[in-house]
Amino acid sequence: MSSDPQELTPSPGPAEVRPSEPAQSGGRRRSSEAPLVEPWREVLLRLAVTLPIDDELSQITQQFIDGLASILPLAAVGACIVTGPQATPLVISRLPTGSVPGIGRDPTRLFPWLDDERIFDLEDGAVGSTFHLGAVSAALNPLQVQIAEQAALVLSSSLRKARAYARAQDSARSMQKLQAQVIQSEKLASLGQIVAGVVHELNNPLTSIIAYADYLKRKAATRPPEEAADDLERLRRIGEAAARILNFSRDLVTYARPSVDVPGAILAQNVLEKALVFCEHEFAESKTIVQREYDATLPPVRGIAGQLTQVFVNLFTNAAHAMAPEGGLLHVVAHHDVRSGTLTVEVTDSGSGIDPADMPQIFEPFFTTKTEGRGTGLGLSIVRGIVDAHGGTIQCQSTLGSGTTFTLTLPLAAIVPSVGPPAD
Ligand code: ADP
Repeated sequence: MSSDPQELTPSPGPAEVRPSEPAQSGGRRRSSEAPLVEPWREVLLRLAVTLPIDDELSQITQQFIDGLASILPLAAVGACIVTGPQATPLVISRLPTGSVPGIGRDPTRLFPWLDDERIFDLEDGAVGSTFHLGAVSAALNPLQVQIAEQAALVLSSSLRKARAYARAQDSARSMQKLQAQVIQSEKLASLGQIVAGVVHELNNPLTSIIAYADYLKRKAATRPPEEAADDLERLRRIGEAAARILNFSRDLVTYARPSVDVPGAILAQNVLEKALVFCEHEFAESKTIVQREYDATLPPVRGIAGQLTQVFVNLFTNAAHAMAPEGGLLHVVAHHDVRSGTLTVEVTDSGSGIDPADMPQIFEPFFTTKTEGRGTGLGLSIVRGIVDAHGGTIQCQSTLGSGTTFTLTLPLAAIVPSVGPPAD
C-alpha cells in the first residue's frame, strides 16, 4: 500500500501493510518522537484546519472523529472529553462499517472487546481527556499508531483553542453586562443628584404652604365653628399633604446620599415604614394592598438604617413587580425572639412566584427574568450582601403561581446603655 493519503480515503484498506507490532491493549501514550511522513502530515494538517474553534466541544470532537475515521477506515476511533469538573465526560466514537460492538470489562477503554487499543492523553486544558484507537482485526500497525499520535495532538490543540475561545467569549459577555451596569449606575447617580436639586427647590414653597395653611387655620378658628368647620378641615388636609411631601422628599435625599453611616440601634418598624412609603407608587401601579403585622414592641436591631431601608425597598419592589395585572397582597410581618436575640421579618406576596429552576440563581448578581429597563438583576444580591454584613440571614420560599416569602433575620442590638437612644 502506498503512503499517499489520497489512496486511503474513503476506505480502500488498512492504513499500512507493514508487519504489526505486538498488541498493547490499553497502552497510554503522549506524543510521537518520530516525525510523520510528509503526505500524512498534510492530511492531518488539512483535518486540523477544518476543525472549528468557535463551536461546542462535542461538535469539534465529532468532526475530528469523522475526519479521522475516513483516514483510518479500518480502525476504531473515539475520544473521551472532560467538559467540566462535575460534568459527565463526553464520549464520541466510531467503528468501521460492518463492525459491531462487543462486551469487555476494562472501564478505561472505549473498545474493551478489541484485542488492541491505544489510549492517548489529550492535553487540552482538562485533565482526563483521552483519544482512543482500536484495532478491529489483528493488532494496530506502527503507521496507524503514529498517525493516531499526531492526530491526538491535532485534537488537543483544537480543544485547547476552543476552551480558550469560550473563556474569552464569557469574559466579553461579562464585560458587556458590567459596562451596561456601570452606565445604569451612572444614570442612577445623576438621577440622585437631580432629585436632590428638585427636593431643594421644593423645600421653600412647601414650607410656605405649611406656614400659610397654619396661618389661615388660626384665622379661620376665630370664626364661629359652624362656619369655619369645612375650611378648617380643608386647611388641615393641605398642611398634612404638604408636610408629607416635605418628609418624603427629605427621606429620599437621605436615602440617595452615599452611606457613610456607622451601625447603631435601629427600630425596624421605622425602616419598614420608610421603605413602604418609598414604594407607594409601585404599589399603586401594581394594585398591591399592604398588610402589616408587627409585634406591639419591637426591640432595636443593630444596623445601618439607610442600608436596611434599601433591603426592604428592593424586596417590596420585587413583590410589586410580581403581581398579576389585577393586583394582590403584600404581607409584612415583624416579630422578635429575645432568647435567640433575633428579629424576623417575613415579606410575603401573592404574586407570580419563582420558577424552581430559577431559584438557585435569584441571589446571583445580574440574574433577572425582567424585561430590559425594569430589572438589573442586582436587587437580591445587594439585599444578601447587606443582610450578611449585618450578621443576619435571608431565605426564600416560593410556589410558582401563588406567591413568594422572603424571611430575614437580624441580630437584636445589645441593650447596653452606651448605645444611647435608637438612631432612627
Ligand atoms: P431584578 O429585580 O432587577 O430582576 P433581583 O436580584 O431583585 O433583580 O431579582 C432577581 C430575580 O428574582 C427577578 O428577576 C425575579 O425573577 C426573581 N424574584 C425576586 N423576587 C421575586 C418575587 N417576590 N416574586 C417573583 N420573583 C421574584
